[in-house]
Amino acid sequence: MQTFQTLGLAPDIFKAISAMGFEIPTPVQAKAIPQLLASDQDLIAYAQTGTGKTAAFSLPIIQKLNMEDGRIQALVLCPTRELCIQTSNEIKKFIQFMPNVSIVSVYGGDAKEKQLRSLKSGAHIVVGTPGRVHDFIRSRQLNFSAVRWLVLDEADEMLSMGFKDDLDAILSTTPNEKQTLLFSATMPSEMQTIVRTYMRNPIEINAGTQNVSAENIKHLYSVVKATDKYAALKRILDVNPDIYGIVFCRTRMDTKEIADKLIEDDYSADALHGDLSQPQREHVMKRFRAKQLQVLVATDVAARGLDINNLSHVIHYYLPDQLETYIHRSGRTGRAGKSGVSVAIITGRDKQKIQAIEKSAGIKIAQKDIPTGSEICEKRLLHFVDNIHQIEVEEAQIAPYMLEMENRLKDISKEEIVKRLAFVEFNQFLNYYRNAIDLNVGASSAKPIKERGEKGKRQERTAFSRFFINLGQRHQLDPGKLIKLLNKEMEGSGFEIGKIEILRNFSFFEIDSNYEQNVIKAFRDANWNGEPISVEVSKDKAPSSQSSGDRGDRGREREFRPRRDRDNKRSNTDSRNAAPSNFKKKKKSKFSNNFA
Ligand code: AMP
Repeated sequence: MQTFQTLGLAPDIFKAISAMGFEIPTPVQAKAIPQLLASDQDLIAYAQTGTGKTAAFSLPIIQKLNMEDGRIQALVLCPTRELCIQTSNEIKKFIQFMPNVSIVSVYGGDAKEKQLRSLKSGAHIVVGTPGRVHDFIRSRQLNFSAVRWLVLDEADEMLSMGFKDDLDAILSTTPNEKQTLLFSATMPSEMQTIVRTYMRNPIEINAGTQNVSAENIKHLYSVVKATDKYAALKRILDVNPDIYGIVFCRTRMDTKEIADKLIEDDYSADALHGDLSQPQREHVMKRFRAKQLQVLVATDVAARGLDINNLSHVIHYYLPDQLETYIHRSGRTGRAGKSGVSVAIITGRDKQKIQAIEKSAGIKIAQKDIPTGSEICEKRLLHFVDNIHQIEVEEAQIAPYMLEMENRLKDISKEEIVKRLAFVEFNQFLNYYRNAIDLNVGASSAKPIKERGEKGKRQERTAFSRFFINLGQRHQLDPGKLIKLLNKEMEGSGFEIGKIEILRNFSFFEIDSNYEQNVIKAFRDANWNGEPISVEVSKDKAPSSQSSGDRGDRGREREFRPRRDRDNKRSNTDSRNAAPSNFKKKKKSKFSNNFA
């Protein structure tokens, strides 16, 4: 096995990478470093982010810099501002014991003046985005006449982001006598043109495909109806309480909508898309990096340059059209020797795409069912139990309350405490999934109950109970007033409402059948203008023919959000114990206002 000692690196560099904890070179480093130290031949390396490519190209460059020359000797082009910052930060660590080496990064979205001042004070290495570098070349504020190395980092990404013209301009400005190093995960045809035009007899290194290989990444797909995609996503999140992943969408709109729904449903999620300002974008990425967010919903473009090594999951909410994009996305998990899961939520018609990806990428993408409600509940309960088993209690924090707690629980057996603890923690979760249907297309047990959900707010389908109420048109009841009444008596506690039928002397309404008893209880002592209200579960079928003009159709599919049990409340930054979606936030009822 090759080690860093055998690669021929200078002592100061070796000291720096040892301090960084690098012990064994990654495949791209093992191949590229000796080659670049020994030769000036151009080089193409197939390597993705996360394969250690920054060290692969920068260590030999640092070692070969001419310290007598204060001009810019190396130019590294990266597709995004984030990648620029990451790359230059990484290089700064490599030169931590070489105080005379200087590096400056230049990218869009930041003041030019500041960057120019840094450049003027001298830089051996410039890391920049093509747009900003081209700007500086045009305004003659950057002189690359002494450049000896030009690195195109994530070259395919730069092209797909539309930097072709900038790259052409930069490549044709820099001196002919330089070594060009191109790092890319894929080789689209546009890049072949660049290679033919600007590179001479490049040597090729292939070291970056391990990220999509079957050993590191489990590739899965699940088939659901288009309308069930969001519910399927939630189930994937629910069955993986420790998930740390990216959900890939196609457009900004999708990204925003799905992230908004997840946030609304109290998942630890946020969106990354092109409409965010730079500070917003940085804020989201910082939170995600710090694991304050478990799920990032992102477009492919926005996720570029986001270098996170330990994602557990990549979820393709929509499959991409390009194989390269699938590879890029999936390669974001299973890095640094860890295993990861890439799961595509598809509809039946996408199956062909799956086969095409399998064939072109040479991987197996296995079909996996979206878990059933009971599978999710079991997984969550056991996860909860395992947490109890493993958690290290801070004695000092809990000690002052122990005696009183023990006192209060002394008449209850251990079994009973376990049972009650699980119930307190999971009551709503279990209820939510109790009647959940099988979402898998083609699954034999799929029993489509009526589909519910506000516009743009599709929920798990709910089974409803029908209730009789002794109030009707005669009592000036209409659907709006009935919803207001339900809100009042049930304290806006968030149940889903189904159909409402207002008749002359009495009415019917539907509510999520899990909450039958809550409804009965809520109306026990209720009154309407002083008259006692009677509410019963109705066993009759909906008397559609008898309904008044307004059958309450507009009142259907309104969602009541149940009051969140205060004891169950979780921080938004930790959704590991998050109850399922529509059992989350306490909301003042908005439904009465919505009612037209
Ligand atoms: P890169 O692909 O250059 O963005 O590197 C991805 C991550 O892997 C960075 O955080 C590096 O610090 C880290 N890394 C690179 N090479 C090694 C290595 N040989 N051993 C351990 N970590 C490494």
